[in-house]
Amino acid sequence: MRKNQRMNNITVIGAGTMGNGIAHVFAQYGYQVILCDISQTALDKALVTIEKNMGRMVEKQKISEQSKRDALGRLTTSTELSSAVSKADLVIEAATENLDLKLKIFAQIDQFSPENAILATNTSSISITKIASATKRPEKVIGMHFMNPVPVIRLVEVIRGFSTSNEVCELIFEISKKIDKVPVEVKDYPGFVANRLLMAMLNEAIHTLYDGICGVEEIDTIMKLGMTHQMGPLLLADFIGLDVCLSIMKVIHEGFGNPKYAPSPLLINMVNAGLLGVKNGSGFYLHSKDSKELVVNPKFLSRFS
Ligand code: NAD
Repeated sequence: MRKNQRMNNITVIGAGTMGNGIAHVFAQYGYQVILCDISQTALDKALVTIEKNMGRMVEKQKISEQSKRDALGRLTTSTELSSAVSKADLVIEAATENLDLKLKIFAQIDQFSPENAILATNTSSISITKIASATKRPEKVIGMHFMNPVPVIRLVEVIRGFSTSNEVCELIFEISKKIDKVPVEVKDYPGFVANRLLMAMLNEAIHTLYDGICGVEEIDTIMKLGMTHQMGPLLLADFIGLDVCLSIMKVIHEGFGNPKYAPSPLLINMVNAGLLGVKNGSGFYLHSKDSKELVVNPKFLSRFS
């Protein structure tokens, strides 16, 4: 590997929420992209989403109709990991957040991709160093933590595993800038930086509600208007998914062994009761596809209305 190594062929593993956004951005900026998933349905859905999102960019005159067609022409899909990574310069894994699954995928990518290929993961919370241990090239394994929605949010949190080389870090910085992102380097410790800070805030908001200091709308209004956040923390937790928040909090809590990161008992109770947020329509708010109005979950109304 050398500085300025050509990186033209990108393989994205996992075609869900994040994978389709990552594939979209690389194809938009001129890279040849293979999007790979075990599910053909997920791939079909991802292509529809990418086309729709690029169409919106055409409407807003951010890209031309021709650029959209060219970008879609650079994008192919596959359900065969071994062939999808065989010519990759950079593989970005964005499959389901599960340690055993990621270890299995990285062992496979390591086996079938060119020896110079850089292997990145978009994990939100799993140790990069642990994921790298499934490969024979830990110096080429790195975290590229994109934010949702990927085509819109410019940050990429670049996470250096314990063995990640300087050269690999530099190449990832270079390619992130080429797709108009802003890379920020952090070390590989639980929650990295984005989620360590974000989850601490969301968890504290849930603790504040649990303590009965005020209600759902009051907490969200204080942070929205007072701190100029785009969205209150409880609504944001609903959007992220309360189960996802809980599992990231657990990683941070266990990773540091520090009680200050203990997930709020209310968050644990809500997940146990099946309240997952936007994805199943019920969290701190009730979310219905038909209603644009935000309705606080009645469970949290009685003491404060
Ligand atoms: P998702 O559930 O929307 O998609 C995951 C995809 O992975 C699914 O399509 C699934 O079929 C596929 N998959 C599962 N096993 C596979 C395998 N063996 N090979 C190929 N594909 C496989 O998940 P997501 O929200 O896109 O999250 C993906 C990753 O990105 C996770 O590690 C998550 O922590 C991280 N992340 C998510 C967000 C977010 O806001 N959703 C933000 C930052 C990072």
